[in-house]
Amino acid sequence: MMDKSLGPMLNAYPDSLGGNLRGAVQFLSSPEVRGAFTSFYILPSLFHSDLDRGFSVVDYGLNEELAAREDLNALEDLGVDLKLDFILNHLSVQSPQFQDLLEKGEDSEYKDFFIDWNKFWAGCGEIGADGVLEPAPEYTKDMFFRKPGLPVLLVEFQDGSRKPYWNTFYQQVEEDEQGKKRYLGQMDLNIKSPLVRDFYERTLARLAGYGAKIVRLDAFAYAPKEAGARNFLNQPGTWELLGQLTEMAKPYGMALLPEIHASYQEGTYRTIAGKGYMVYDFFLPGLVLDAFEQKSGRELARWANEVIGSGMRTVNMLGCHDGIPVLDLQGLLPEERIQSLIGTLVKRGGFVKDLHGAKNVYYQVNATYYSALGEDDRRMLLARAIQLFMPGKPQVWYLDLFAGRNDYEAMARGGAGGHKEINRTNLSGGEVSLGLERDVVRGQLRLLKLRASCPAFRPEAEISVAAQGSGLSMRWTTGGDSAELTADLEDASFEVSLCSGGESSVFMRQ
Ligand code: BGC
Repeated sequence: MMDKSLGPMLNAYPDSLGGNLRGAVQFLSSPEVRGAFTSFYILPSLFHSDLDRGFSVVDYGLNEELAAREDLNALEDLGVDLKLDFILNHLSVQSPQFQDLLEKGEDSEYKDFFIDWNKFWAGCGEIGADGVLEPAPEYTKDMFFRKPGLPVLLVEFQDGSRKPYWNTFYQQVEEDEQGKKRYLGQMDLNIKSPLVRDFYERTLARLAGYGAKIVRLDAFAYAPKEAGARNFLNQPGTWELLGQLTEMAKPYGMALLPEIHASYQEGTYRTIAGKGYMVYDFFLPGLVLDAFEQKSGRELARWANEVIGSGMRTVNMLGCHDGIPVLDLQGLLPEERIQSLIGTLVKRGGFVKDLHGAKNVYYQVNATYYSALGEDDRRMLLARAIQLFMPGKPQVWYLDLFAGRNDYEAMARGGAGGHKEINRTNLSGGEVSLGLERDVVRGQLRLLKLRASCPAFRPEAEISVAAQGSGLSMRWTTGGDSAELTADLEDASFEVSLCSGGESSVFMRQ
């Protein structure tokens, strides 16, 4: 049996391809696609959730509007394993735990499940007119808030009292005609509460039960918090927490994939790899785009060789449900090159997402990968070929596979926080069928099937990557089998050739 640990992984929402998970299963079973993917990263709207298209989980039960147990069974029958999210930093206001707290207040068994902001900061500052404690600057100087102002949601209890709770990510407050407020928000969990630990254990067991082989630890670095210390990648709190999760996940044989965006120069990816976790290769998307713009794969090859030399296990990608990472590139590319890349992506219709509004630190560019490449089919196919010749497990955003363009309408519909919608267009069954006739889609599928089945692409392969001028060559060799990509970044021409038992053949050329 083929080793699937490096097999390509589809990435989509349950409703991205034909309206629901059943549609995605049909897509994966269709003759055009079957054999291209060995894994599927299903985004968390698979579960009961409200905001942030799934990342605000109400509970980890299957969202029956989009998915059914039979769909998961069908994926297993197809030989497709799963990557699923464990969103350990937060849970929705609508979760039974938060609802219980709202109803019973101090009498709720969940009273310490979330982070009561004023209690957390008690003695560290003054309570303002809005009832929110404003910590003194010496306590927050190392903290990192993703939005302007304090990261709180002021919620109203049954008895009419109001209290702020820590809320790092999204929130929404709606008011009905009677003036009654409805709160939505991703409420940060208090990892010191034993009930949160129980919840972690149960959640990991549930993900294992769904067939997860890889568990993505969403935004994990925000979870450990202490007054006066860092609230992002707190040390050693973050590593202790990961260590505990590792123990919890062990019985299920699931690999943990911590999700973190940090600049290359900080070396966080190395620390994560050093601790034995899988590493997200968030550098590849920007490096491939930069290679096309610079007509040089030098930096790309340097990074590939670092991955090869270190032996770290990566999951890489071109596009994904978030923006194209650019903060991550600091230290890999000179600052002017990053700025120039951002400028190019913006010219091609992308939007820059800054990290903490006021400080104006660029973070990601929201765009489809195809639009970021200049909507050029040849570049899209070569970008995919490069990804598939990179060391690691390739994750493929469905919309890149379909060469999707920036969706400005969806972005406008999404309102103020809707920037990510530019790259999340759902495809109907009809659009999928039409797409499967396009050369740029078929070409990518052919390459994916090669990556999934050719014996050269094995974990023990010897991989070599070299760049010279505008040329790039990448080769995998396992025993008597090899696969080689030779490309010219100037005009996106390339050739994929195979060699088996001394016989060479050209697999693809453009
Ligand atoms: C996910 C985002 C999400 C955030 C909060 C992330 O890093 O990728 O899409 O908004 O975590 O859950």
